[in-house]
Amino acid sequence: NRQWVLASRPHGEPSPDNFRLEQSAIPEVTDGKVLLRTVYLSLDPYMRGRMSDAPSYAPPVALGELMVGGAVSRVVASKLDGFKEGDWVLGYTGWQDYALSDGAMLTNLGQQPGHPSYALGIMGMPGFTAYMGLLDIGKPKAGETLVVAAATGPVGATVGQIGKILGLRVVGVAGGEDKCRYATEQLGFDACIDHRSADFEAQLQAACPAGIDVYFENVGGKVFDAVLPLLNTGARVPLCGLVAQYNATSLPAGPDRLPLLMGTLLKKRITMQGFIIFDDYGHRYGEFSAQMSQWLKEGRIQYREEVKDGLENAPALLVGLLKGENFGKLVVRVGDE
Ligand code: NDP
Repeated sequence: NRQWVLASRPHGEPSPDNFRLEQSAIPEVTDGKVLLRTVYLSLDPYMRGRMSDAPSYAPPVALGELMVGGAVSRVVASKLDGFKEGDWVLGYTGWQDYALSDGAMLTNLGQQPGHPSYALGIMGMPGFTAYMGLLDIGKPKAGETLVVAAATGPVGATVGQIGKILGLRVVGVAGGEDKCRYATEQLGFDACIDHRSADFEAQLQAACPAGIDVYFENVGGKVFDAVLPLLNTGARVPLCGLVAQYNATSLPAGPDRLPLLMGTLLKKRITMQGFIIFDDYGHRYGEFSAQMSQWLKEGRIQYREEVKDGLENAPALLVGLLKGENFGKLVVRVGDE
């Protein structure tokens, strides 16, 4: 049983050296337990936070401990009611080949789910995040302008497509031409701006002639700086993530922009609200799941995955995710279906 443990805490950008691969025997199934074989491991931006011991909404991974993560697995053997050999399950079982579980936080997906890995993306945490953050905090209305960055990732792509279903003008922000073309041609966004282009601010302004009513914040940094002056009176900003600053080791260079932010929030009566998906909305998963299954069935939501082979590659893939090297929901194929 291969297991990735956290070997050291990164300063700034993490490196594969922050992890260590350990080997142990495959656990034996005991009473009240189920033995799982990992098939798909999810890699997500929040993992950078778990590598750090800075205060957060969830405790850090301890040094020498198994790296945390959501995974879709198959039941190898079960001595736990409700699970039988061959079942697919979604669990929070971490970066390893095999896991022994007592059923806590384990969801049985049945013997033949249509797309098992979707439970890590569009039907799981990122899709749910997009749905609740946009609808409950963003309060989108037809005809308004919605801007979302990390526009081709599982959260951003879903936010923008829901925005289109609801009749908004949707402007994405993404890294590079290919991602921007995908956002407009495949996802149906009205425009998508490359945050790496030299005249990014001017392009964003041109794409939002009526200003911005909802900014779904995934990245922070210079994207937020460009968005701030374009926000309309009464704009809503669901504060979902700040991936551009997860590797930061110090505050950005001056001038201090906090007074500008405060002044804008006040004068334009802007609502900005952070949320942590399962803490705040766990009780509404059923509502999301029913609606998203329907949209997928009707072909109204597209979903792109980037599936990479090999548990051994997980550390390098996570480092890349934080720099935009993924194109779609990043999933590691750990074992055969
Ligand atoms: P993605 O798969 O979209 O990966 C992150 C993306 O962020 C990268 O692909 C890259 O896309 C973009 N990015 C990285 N650095 C920068 C930068 N400096 N400037 C602009 N963009 C950058 O991730 P997810 O869809 O899974 O997550 C999106 C956000 O949602 C994250 O911030 C995550 O932490 C947050 N989140 C929050 C939750 C909550 O409960 N609050 C739950 C789930 C996710 P590109 O190449 O296009 O720039």
